Amino acid sequence: MTDLLGALAQSRGRTVTVGGTTMTPPDLLAAAAAVADAVTGRLPAVERVAVHATPTMETVVAVLGALAAGVTVVPVPPDSGVAEVRHVLADSAPGCWVGEPPADRHGLDHVPVDLAGRASYRPREVGEDHADFVLYTSGTTGLPKGVLLPRRALVAGLDALAEAWAWTGDDVLAHGLPLFHVHGLVLGVLGPLRLGGGLLHVGRPTPEAYAEAARAGATLFFGVPTVWGRIADAPEHAKALTDARLLVSGSAALPAPVFERLEELTGHRVVERYGMSETLITVATRADGSARPGWVGVPVAGVETRLRTDDGADVPHDGESAGALEVRGPTLFAGYLNRHDATAACWTDDGWFRTGDVAAIAPDGRHRIVGRASVDLIKSGGYRIGAGEIESTLLGHPAVAECAVVGLPDADLGQRIVAFVVARDARADDALAAELTAYVGAELSAHKRPREVRFVDALPRNEMGKVQKTRLRG
Ligand code: ATP
Ligand code: MG
Repeated sequence: MTDLLGALAQSRGRTVTVGGTTMTPPDLLAAAAAVADAVTGRLPAVERVAVHATPTMETVVAVLGALAAGVTVVPVPPDSGVAEVRHVLADSAPGCWVGEPPADRHGLDHVPVDLAGRASYRPREVGEDHADFVLYTSGTTGLPKGVLLPRRALVAGLDALAEAWAWTGDDVLAHGLPLFHVHGLVLGVLGPLRLGGGLLHVGRPTPEAYAEAARAGATLFFGVPTVWGRIADAPEHAKALTDARLLVSGSAALPAPVFERLEELTGHRVVERYGMSETLITVATRADGSARPGWVGVPVAGVETRLRTDDGADVPHDGESAGALEVRGPTLFAGYLNRHDATAACWTDDGWFRTGDVAAIAPDGRHRIVGRASVDLIKSGGYRIGAGEIESTLLGHPAVAECAVVGLPDADLGQRIVAFVVARDARADDALAAELTAYVGAELSAHKRPREVRFVDALPRNEMGKVQKTRLRG
């Protein structure tokens, strides 16, 4: 099966910068090859390796080296607590660490990474079903699940995105994403390297850092909606992105007001894409100027989608009707590690993957993500109401900095709509609560009004900026 890194070996001009260290492609491959040789020396005893996934060049070299050795890489989030690391290690049973382990190495020894290491790059041949990664889901809805990602899915997913975004070796990708999920690691590191393009990991994803990357020549920018929101609030830095080729948002819904503000400031219509650890990117806005706020694009090459009711009936693709989103195609995972029941439960009898998300599809194939069936679909007074629509509306009110809408149990309505709001100024009082409720009622309809507005200092978010609604529902 194809080498994941494809064009990197031919690349001469573009450099890779992570954690302040810059390397050329030949140096990167030589250092990775040295790691691969050391890991290969431990085969066959070692099948999986853990990488303490700090945002550093050592992490990138560790991952590339382990992939070249043909073992399965388990990235361990660096900010995890001891119990979380224990969960990941107990679940995935790696044979050793590659690169610097965390202070508590949980009894495993390690293969060191030397950025100046030198060996010739000869990746081990693996089949298309070989699991290159066990990537843990974000844990937004429960304990993170280990997703087995086969080589076939990575190749298909990366090539489909390159096609959708006209992404080539001439691009320099900038982002400040963590390096242990699909977004930051698969798309954000393997994506540019496979094309032989440049990578500039900016460290902490501040507006200043993104502006600086633009001035340094980055053409393509990835970010989660919280990062784009901060950039939209920093006009002087946002304007530096005017000359970029493409701005991309994903991992959670991009609020329409952020999309609009960024268009005003940069002239760019942010391209949104949707996916999950289990499916890689399934739906993406193409780089052809067709981006619209609230819509995440069309299925990428080779991927099919459909909408179903709870009873398994087809939902029309009319752009309005919402249904459970199901996916089929070459980018799908091979199952959850050690979770046979969970794996079996997410496939339909006719072979489609149940995403757990609710969406609408327009006649021209564009997708709108309503949210997660488990937390974003509020069933109140006989209505099925998407939390995202109310959140977008609230964000259009000048006093709202951030918000999250949930359905809380209600004896009368089944669920009642509750809005958690971070207010922009000190006016977090009953009068503002009443004003926000009326605002939603006027912009949307009466049954979508929050019954209650709770002001909070901050929303509980994970490292991808995703609001942990299960914690709000407490
Ligand atoms: P867990 O499965 O552990 O609860 P998670 O689902 O957040 O965590 P990921 O696989 O990292 O873990 O995230 C995938 C989810 O992120 C999708 O199922 C979807 O709910 C959400 N998501 C991703 N992109 C978008 C987007 N553009 N708009 C709205 N939601 C998105
Ligand atoms: Mg999930």
